[in-house]
Amino acid sequence: MEHRRKKIIKQSVRDTVTKLLDEAHSEYLKGNRERSQRHVKMALYHIKKHKVHVPKDYVNTFCKKCRIVWIPGKTARVYFDRKHNCLRIECKKCGFSKRI
Ligand SMILES: [Zn+2]
Repeated sequence: MEHRRKKIIKQSVRDTVTKLLDEAHSEYLKGNRERSQRHVKMALYHIKKHKVHVPKDYVNTFCKKCRIVWIPGKTARVYFDRKHNCLRIECKKCGFSKRI
């Protein structure tokens, strides 16, 4: 029973996180950068508190360091890293980069 309850909670947390990140994205596009960052912060708060994973489709949609949403060509740069033979995404705001 306990297990099932946890599963339901985690599912609803994931839904909330997904909604928050979607919202963050559209707020950024509307020009509300601060509000967008607040949404990402809230999403990360839920992720930490309930120990859930970031939904797969959303892993590379925001910066973990400065909490800005990543929009390729705008707030993020995607390039091929020859040294490590992989694709990398780099945050234009804080310079954080990760493999994708
Ligand atoms: Zn960043």
